[in-house]
Amino acid sequence: MEWCLKQPKIELHAHLNGSVRNSTLLELAKVQGEKGVVVFADVEHVIMKNDRSLVECFKMFDLIHVLTTDHETVTRITREVIEDFAAENIVYVELRTTPKRNEAKGMTKRSYMEAVIDGLRSVDTVDVSFIPSDLNRENSSRYFASNDNGITRRRIFVRLLLSIDRRESTAAAMDTVQLALELRSLGVVGIDLSGNPLVGNWDTFLQPLLFAKDKGLPITLHCGEVKNRKEEVQAMLDFLPQRIGHAIFFEEQQWKQLKQSKIPVEICLTSNIRTECVTSINNHHFG
Ligand SMILES: [Zn+2]
Repeated sequence: MEWCLKQPKIELHAHLNGSVRNSTLLELAKVQGEKGVVVFADVEHVIMKNDRSLVECFKMFDLIHVLTTDHETVTRITREVIEDFAAENIVYVELRTTPKRNEAKGMTKRSYMEAVIDGLRSVDTVDVSFIPSDLNRENSSRYFASNDNGITRRRIFVRLLLSIDRRESTAAAMDTVQLALELRSLGVVGIDLSGNPLVGNWDTFLQPLLFAKDKGLPITLHCGEVKNRKEEVQAMLDFLPQRIGHAIFFEEQQWKQLKQSKIPVEICLTSNIRTECVTSINNHHFG
């Protein structure tokens, strides 16, 4: 483990809401408990549970969504997540998040993303490089940055992927793609399709994703996370995204197509085992 921690690493599949500290979630749950929004005792049990099935994971995401509704909290969790990744010696992270609208809090998809970007700006423990126009600066000093006092600090490169949630409508997905295009200069490098794989249809997202593709925005799709989605997996493969996430339940022919297409796959063995999508490491498709 010591050796693993020491190696510089890249993280290409990190969901903001999936990376929040337990201690922060408990603290937020306590506050929301006092306001009567949640029952703390119930929530505490859910947060501290170690292994979750995929269904339980999405229940957990719904809970996190309830706990992280205001701009200030979005900024805080972003800051903490980046600090935690840097502490594990991640040198490049693509953080994905679903821009959310919440009228009660005066939150738009854009202001949500501004809160995320504020979080990147407020990181204190490591130098964060997230604006692509910093490229020259980025290349010159790689993993370390010196400030005006000549003190050298570790550096983490951060890029953002805007996620379309499978619960969203075509219009809402299109809003996310538009926002991603507008925020390219602030480090947004692509679009992700994610959320509960048992919800929503590929057809709903095809038009916004084609628009993104047409504009040259790279796309990664959560694909084949649950059984019996043969047609959807096929449609996703035929779409030719830049990357695919998970790729668990593929038919033989689809494996062949995937390999021929040379589309890189984002795989997390630990996640697949813990969410019970794969029964054991010996049966994992990574092999
Ligand atoms: Zn994911």
